[in-house]
Amino acid sequence: MRVVVIGAGATGLGVAWDLVLRGIETTVVEAQEIGSGTSGRFHGLLHSGGRYLVTDPSAAKECYEENMLLREIANEAVVATGGYFVKKYGDDDAFEARWLNQAADLGVPVHAEKVGDLRAELGMLTESIQRSYWVPDGVLEGFKMLSMLVRAIQSRGSNVLEHTKAVKLRLAGERVNGVEVQAPEGTRVLDCDAVVNTAGPWAGLVARDWGLDVKVQPSYGLMLIFANRRLDKVVNRLKSPSDGDIFVPHQEVVILGTTDVAQPSPEAPEPRRSEAIRLMALGSELIPDLGSWRVLRGFNGVRPLYEPSGVTGDSRKVSRDFAVLDHGERDGLAGAFSVLGGKWTTFRLMGETLGDQLVASFNVDSPSRSREVPIGVEVKRPAPVVKDDRGALLCECEQVYESDIKPTVSSPMQLRFGTWFSMGPCQGTFCAHRVLGRGDEDGFADELATLRREREHGLTVVGWGANARLIALEQSISAQSLGEER
Ligand SMILES: Cc1cc2nc3c(=O)[nH]c(=O)nc-3n(C[C@H](O)[C@H](O)[C@H](O)COP(=O)(O)OP(=O)(O)OC[C@H]3O[C@@H](n4cnc5c(N)ncnc54)[C@H](O)[C@@H]3O)c2cc1C
Repeated sequence: MRVVVIGAGATGLGVAWDLVLRGIETTVVEAQEIGSGTSGRFHGLLHSGGRYLVTDPSAAKECYEENMLLREIANEAVVATGGYFVKKYGDDDAFEARWLNQAADLGVPVHAEKVGDLRAELGMLTESIQRSYWVPDGVLEGFKMLSMLVRAIQSRGSNVLEHTKAVKLRLAGERVNGVEVQAPEGTRVLDCDAVVNTAGPWAGLVARDWGLDVKVQPSYGLMLIFANRRLDKVVNRLKSPSDGDIFVPHQEVVILGTTDVAQPSPEAPEPRRSEAIRLMALGSELIPDLGSWRVLRGFNGVRPLYEPSGVTGDSRKVSRDFAVLDHGERDGLAGAFSVLGGKWTTFRLMGETLGDQLVASFNVDSPSRSREVPIGVEVKRPAPVVKDDRGALLCECEQVYESDIKPTVSSPMQLRFGTWFSMGPCQGTFCAHRVLGRGDEDGFADELATLRREREHGLTVVGWGANARLIALEQSISAQSLGEER
């Protein structure tokens, strides 16, 4: 059996991994680059389920179970930070009681933490914390997990094709038997027995191209990145999920999230300054001194929420759970499936659920193995590069050396996600031209203006204090010293 999966975000790769482990030949096609959709634009929270205990219990239970499982099968991409839910004086007592009851009912471990101990550990939190609880929140290293999945899928003989957009289905009667794709080398058809739409916020558009009505509700969320890792644990506000109520430590930074605004388009909009200022005010309710933290940039991601009944007014009310649609049963289009909604944390479960339905529809007995097989391959690590062999230091903030630039890198985005250059405190001011000049044979120097523009959008949205000075410095260095055209 051959399957084509559309979209290489967390959902598509989770689906492909589950199918590959069942021995199914799978090709993932990605219109842009791996992780370029929502899966590269999230907080990085490995949910304990705590956020959804009251509002979305089944999503909460799934998140907790997957959280525990991923620690075992993909430990390299998980950081078991732990997290706290904190209740301020005046926050709803009834919500706290329901939250505790639900945790007990669903088996999500929650321990009361003495406020004094919490304050000793995280002294920057507001004085007005009434109660606090520890939960097994963690951090999910999204790009690491994506690359582990890609390697694992490829090591078992299946493909992940970037810059390859699915444009049309080919049918034999009412059954799918191919997908027409546009790739750099031209248009071609990938033969297959089934196709899975995992296009995230674009899934509604993909379904529309198939002549189907699937109500995906894109909803964007703004997140702010702070330049230092001031917290080592996740901190959530103990109330119904709302804007500005969560801090997640991620590598060297801390991320504050998020807004939740329904929008018609699947594309991430430019971040807005007024929203950033509002998010800062909300975050200050937990950390009064937040204004003194150096904020690096703002960025938006778009949730692919699924609302079977159609668009709702308030996207916070749309379930965080996921759905698998068998379009053969639902719409008479045999061999076509969609996997919609969900969370990064539940990508594996989404893959397993789709896999179960897909093999059942073909009357094939091939159980899922993604629960027990570690996500990884035996790779021979290259000999560590000794310091002297690393070549010139190209990016001081993220410590990127010449030897870190792989000759196979084929786009500036791959360069960025592979090395993290331009993501640190200088936001590419000093390193962008050095790194882009070395991308491939000819370099990516002509992409400099695009990168500058993209970095600036995220910077200007938080362009106050030190950032306003950084923007002025960056503009004067790039225009006056480097002679870049702006
Ligand atoms: C602000 C925000 C914060 C979040 N925080 C968290 C969090 O902390 N923890 C958590 O667990 N979850 C979080 N989520 C949710 C999580 O990020 C998403 O549920 C998940 O990333 C969705 O992955 P996906 O693969 O479905 O979509 P995407 O990652 O968007 O992947 C879809 C892919 O399909 C591709 N595509 C589209 N059309 C085509 C086509 N025609 N042909 C080929 N490819 C195509 C796109 O280019 C894209 O790469 C957050 C979401 C948002 C918006």
